[in-house]
Amino acid sequence: MTDHWMPSDLCPECGYAVDAATGVDGDAARPKPGDISLCLRCGAALEWDTSMVMRSVPEEALRELDAKTRRLIEGAKRHIKQRGLFPVSAKGQARVVKKA
Ligand SMILES: [Zn+2]
Repeated sequence: MTDHWMPSDLCPECGYAVDAATGVDGDAARPKPGDISLCLRCGAALEWDTSMVMRSVPEEALRELDAKTRRLIEGAKRHIKQRGLFPVSAKGQARVVKKA
Protein backbone atom coordinates (compact mmCIF):
# COMPACT_ATOMS: atom_id res chain seq x y z
CA MET A 1 0.00 0.00 0.00
CA THR A 2 1.16 3.52 -0.80
CA ASP A 3 0.55 6.46 1.50
CA HIS A 4 -0.23 9.82 -0.12
CA TRP A 5 0.18 12.98 1.91
CA MET A 6 -2.82 15.22 1.32
CA PRO A 7 -3.62 18.85 2.15
CA SER A 8 -4.76 18.70 5.77
CA ASP A 9 -8.54 18.57 6.18
CA LEU A 10 -10.93 17.74 9.01
CA CYS A 11 -13.38 14.84 9.03
CA PRO A 12 -16.81 16.56 8.82
CA GLU A 13 -18.21 13.96 11.25
CA CYS A 14 -15.67 14.00 14.10
CA GLY A 15 -13.13 16.75 13.39
CA TYR A 16 -10.23 14.35 13.03
CA ALA A 17 -7.32 15.91 11.11
CA VAL A 18 -6.76 13.89 7.96
CA ASP A 19 -3.54 14.47 6.07
CA ALA A 20 -2.88 11.26 4.23
CA ALA A 21 -4.64 8.54 2.27
CA THR A 22 -3.82 4.90 1.69
CA GLY A 23 -5.39 2.88 -1.08
CA VAL A 24 -6.77 -0.57 -0.40
CA ASP A 25 -6.25 -3.69 -2.52
CA GLY A 26 -2.74 -2.49 -3.40
CA ASP A 27 -4.12 0.54 -5.23
CA ALA A 28 -1.25 3.05 -5.38
CA ALA A 29 -3.18 5.77 -7.26
CA ARG A 30 -3.41 9.20 -5.69
CA PRO A 31 -6.98 9.99 -4.46
CA LYS A 32 -9.07 12.12 -6.83
CA PRO A 33 -12.45 13.89 -6.67
CA GLY A 34 -15.29 11.39 -6.24
CA ASP A 35 -13.21 8.77 -4.44
CA ILE A 36 -14.73 7.47 -1.23
CA SER A 37 -12.64 7.09 1.90
CA LEU A 38 -13.18 6.21 5.53
CA CYS A 39 -12.13 8.33 8.47
CA LEU A 40 -9.82 6.10 10.49
CA ARG A 41 -10.94 7.73 13.72
CA CYS A 42 -14.74 7.42 13.48
CA GLY A 43 -15.35 5.25 10.41
CA ALA A 44 -17.41 7.88 8.58
CA ALA A 45 -17.65 7.40 4.81
CA LEU A 46 -16.22 10.50 3.15
CA GLU A 47 -15.96 11.66 -0.43
CA TRP A 48 -13.50 14.16 -1.88
CA ASP A 49 -15.18 16.93 -3.82
CA THR A 50 -13.68 18.69 -6.85
CA SER A 51 -11.57 20.88 -4.52
CA MET A 52 -10.34 17.77 -2.67
CA VAL A 53 -12.33 18.79 0.42
CA MET A 54 -13.88 15.84 2.28
CA ARG A 55 -17.68 15.64 2.47
CA SER A 56 -19.87 13.14 4.28
CA VAL A 57 -21.46 10.48 2.07
CA PRO A 58 -25.21 9.98 2.70
CA GLU A 59 -26.34 6.43 3.52
CA GLU A 60 -28.50 6.30 0.39
CA ALA A 61 -25.43 7.04 -1.77
CA LEU A 62 -23.55 4.17 -0.08
CA ARG A 63 -26.44 1.80 -0.84
CA GLU A 64 -26.01 2.56 -4.56
CA LEU A 65 -22.42 1.28 -4.60
CA ASP A 66 -21.65 -2.20 -5.90
CA ALA A 67 -21.89 -5.09 -3.42
CA LYS A 68 -18.13 -5.66 -3.19
CA THR A 69 -17.47 -2.00 -2.32
CA ARG A 70 -20.33 -1.95 0.22
CA ARG A 71 -18.90 -5.06 1.92
CA LEU A 72 -15.44 -3.43 2.00
CA ILE A 73 -16.84 -0.26 3.57
CA GLU A 74 -18.98 -2.12 6.12
CA GLY A 75 -16.08 -4.39 7.10
CA ALA A 76 -13.73 -1.44 7.57
CA LYS A 77 -16.36 0.49 9.58
CA ARG A 78 -16.91 -2.55 11.82
CA HIS A 79 -13.16 -2.86 12.38
CA ILE A 80 -12.84 0.86 13.25
CA LYS A 81 -15.78 0.66 15.70
CA GLN A 82 -14.37 -2.47 17.39
CA ARG A 83 -10.96 -0.86 17.72
CA GLY A 84 -12.40 2.30 19.26
CA LEU A 85 -11.82 5.97 18.51
CA PHE A 86 -8.36 7.43 17.98
CA PRO A 87 -7.60 10.53 20.02
CA VAL A 88 -8.37 13.61 17.89
CA SER A 89 -4.76 14.78 18.24
CA ALA A 90 -3.39 11.68 16.47
CA LYS A 91 -2.34 11.98 12.84
CA GLY A 92 -4.98 10.58 10.56
CA GLN A 93 -5.35 8.85 7.30
CA ALA A 94 -8.34 8.39 5.11
CA ARG A 95 -8.47 5.04 3.39
CA VAL A 96 -9.56 5.02 -0.22
CA VAL A 97 -12.09 2.28 -0.79
CA LYS A 98 -13.73 3.20 -4.08
CA LYS A 99 -12.49 4.95 -7.16
CA ALA A 100 -14.81 7.37 -8.92
ZN1 LIG B 1 -14.15 11.05 11.56
